[in-house]
Amino acid sequence: VRSTAQWQELDAKHHLHPFTDFKDLAEKGSRIIVKAEGVYIYDSEGNQILDGMAGLWCCNLGYDRKEIVDAVQQQLTELPFYNNFFQCSHPPSIELSRLITEIAPEHMNNVFYTNSGSEANDTVIRMIHRFWDLQEQPQRKTIIARKNGYHGSTIAAGSLGGMNGMHKQYATLPGIEHIDQPYWFGEGGDMDPAEFGVQVARQLEAKIDELGADKVAAFIAEPIQGAGGVIVPPETYWPEISRICKEKGILLVCDEVICGFGRTGEWFGSSYYGAEPDLMPFAKGVTNGYQPLGGVLVSDRVADVLKSKGGEFTHGFTYSGHPAACAAAIATIKSLREGKHIERVREETGPYLQKRWAELAEHPLVGETRGVGFLAALELVKNKETRERFDDDCTAGAICRDACTESGLVMRAVGDMMVVAPPLTMTKEQIDELVEKAKKALDITLSKLT
Ligand code: PLP
Repeated sequence: VRSTAQWQELDAKHHLHPFTDFKDLAEKGSRIIVKAEGVYIYDSEGNQILDGMAGLWCCNLGYDRKEIVDAVQQQLTELPFYNNFFQCSHPPSIELSRLITEIAPEHMNNVFYTNSGSEANDTVIRMIHRFWDLQEQPQRKTIIARKNGYHGSTIAAGSLGGMNGMHKQYATLPGIEHIDQPYWFGEGGDMDPAEFGVQVARQLEAKIDELGADKVAAFIAEPIQGAGGVIVPPETYWPEISRICKEKGILLVCDEVICGFGRTGEWFGSSYYGAEPDLMPFAKGVTNGYQPLGGVLVSDRVADVLKSKGGEFTHGFTYSGHPAACAAAIATIKSLREGKHIERVREETGPYLQKRWAELAEHPLVGETRGVGFLAALELVKNKETRERFDDDCTAGAICRDACTESGLVMRAVGDMMVVAPPLTMTKEQIDELVEKAKKALDITLSKLT
């Protein structure tokens, strides 16, 4: 068994972490997570930490799900691998397709598998173009997405996303345009949120008119923007977006990688907002994070064209619909269903989390709290009245994130926004613990900033 220092040394020497400043990490040393149970993770120093992020927005059922582990183990024993290329298929991928289309909106009856959310969004881009080509409208090439949206980190998914940092590192696929996200706290000024929601949605209409409706292929957005800071849209936003997509005839893509599988108290975030997407990329929570699996749920509108026109869809991955990953997903969906976890988030623990989270707005550092179901965020500000922010070099968010860890809580910083997406299994007592630890972390942050 290695000591923490030994792990850190080896890690710094050989391991390049995703989304990490390698130089900075080598200086600070990584936190080594060695164990997880329920809604807690444990580091190599024996510290117990409440996981406010469900891993990376994915362990919706928490960590010790024996039923998922058993299902994977049994599948690995029976058929550890076979592919779904050409005319091959296998029971776990077929059964998962049946199950996933059963929980999906009624008009979505087909699914294409990938290994991740990024690949799901690459698949979306290719599928959109294939659809319009088959519809004999190949000039519909432009996809409209949103600033600060996150759709993954491959070159294509990163281009679809609206993160400048990623665009600067070669994610610059042509044919993608970005409009604003409905970020009322940051950009709404004195406007009423409902009015602001309509105004931002109408940027989509303006962009389509500018480009020419016959040139636009699709609009993609997360129902609630996650990695961009849990940007909860005003209630007016999605109805207006839906109206515009319908009127202009373009495809609507709702990226369900974070919102899917119960986070909002519905199976899918688009259902929470009453939107009717043509394509729904998903990943993360589908396997409770226990196996890498993503995919795209495909509406009848798109699938009917893909299926009826013939010709190969030249796309796929060796592990598309991997048997062990499908087994994990089947067990996850059954468990979410049988344990009534989503209903509980909708009716009981979600409202409780939001009520307790809203108390944090009283803290002198907090400009706004917001959230839906088991997704929530708060804004760190210098001045509550004017919404003045801390200077960029002050890194208030990073200070608060470290203070959270010090207090035994994982909360993520997105600039100066602090976000949580806890496992849906969190009890009311554990929600109390989360809020108390967040308060403590805010106090520590305040003392460090003043
Ligand atoms: N889409 C959304 C909305 C996401 O939040 C993420 C990841 O956080 C992705 C896509 C990419 O998923 P993955 O990291 O599995 O490639």
